[in-house]
Amino acid sequence: MPIPLVDLKAQYAAIQPEIDAAIQRVIANTSFILGKPVAQFESDFAAFCHARHCVGTDSGTAALHLALLLCDVKPGDEVITTTHTFIATAEVISIIGARPIFVDIDPRTYNLDPNQIERAITPHTRALIPVHLYGQPAEMDPILEIARRHRLRVIEDAAQAHGAEYRGRRAGSMGDVACFSFYPGKNLGAYGDAGALVTNDAELADRARMLRDHGRRAKYEHLIVGYGYRLDALQAAILGAKLPHLDAWNARRRAIAAYYTELFSNSDIVTPYVPPHIAPVYHLYVIRARNREGLRAHLKARGIETGIHYPIPLHLQPVYAALGYKPGDFPHAEQAAREVLSLPIYPELTDAQVEQIAQSVKEFCG
Ligand SMILES: *Cc1c(COP(=O)(O)O)cnc(C)c1O
Repeated sequence: MPIPLVDLKAQYAAIQPEIDAAIQRVIANTSFILGKPVAQFESDFAAFCHARHCVGTDSGTAALHLALLLCDVKPGDEVITTTHTFIATAEVISIIGARPIFVDIDPRTYNLDPNQIERAITPHTRALIPVHLYGQPAEMDPILEIARRHRLRVIEDAAQAHGAEYRGRRAGSMGDVACFSFYPGKNLGAYGDAGALVTNDAELADRARMLRDHGRRAKYEHLIVGYGYRLDALQAAILGAKLPHLDAWNARRRAIAAYYTELFSNSDIVTPYVPPHIAPVYHLYVIRARNREGLRAHLKARGIETGIHYPIPLHLQPVYAALGYKPGDFPHAEQAAREVLSLPIYPELTDAQVEQIAQSVKEFCG
């Protein structure tokens, strides 16, 4: 049997009655826009993140865009982020008319290296966007300390890290604002596009609520220029039905990751490095391989689907050619882009499947 990178059908099969009932309730009440389903999910998800406020949006990208607006990032400002991430992290900086300033990663964790931040700060710098890549929190204490010292805002891109912990603090509870994606394949996934912004600051949450809904509080009184970025009520109901399972799903992802790492222990395969103070949620399980394309083809021939997150670092993307970066600027990220390979990981993956995948990887790598 082929093994896909993610299997959304297996998850639906496991919880179908709960999902179907949640959808049916929204339809029966015709409460399609905001209202109770959205408010209920926002309150539940804030609690899950150990944060005070959650504002649902129609995507993670929309949440990131709003986060920059909440942090008063303006055209001409600079925002520092990692070059090894999904395009959305930087795209929103450009949408505002600000300039993304990329920095290299720590090659062991693939996350933004805090030691690279200060040399990138200029008088134009407004904010930092650490990304909790692959579900593993960035090194937040030094990042928050640098931000305090330079009076910068911190936006967590937690799109891959629902429930991950850094020194006992959950992703989403550490920065000024945090952004989550509920893209279907994320650890908590909707049945379409959805996202959320999380913060401990009541004023920021209030402004985010207005911004995502045409700048209003009351139906036809518009106080600021806003957007049509509302979280869909059907998606909120689906997410609300899934949320009670998330801690158990994350625990299963951790068990699968630990099993992979154990099976690779007497090989030269580079497995994820996790500092002792960090508890990742393994949105992805990423290994490194010198001959990645060869390994990928070997696995594909055995029915095992893999992914590459991500093949081109953002500073070398065609869209950012005008920023003037060149190959060699961020060697750790560039090497990672050549070598990383994501193996299948999702809560419903069986131990036998993990063994089959690990066996096939070892056959190729020795
Ligand atoms: C998925 C993702 C996003 C974007 O989320 P969407 O919901 O697809 O808009 C942003 N940043 C990272 C790191 C992501 O993985």
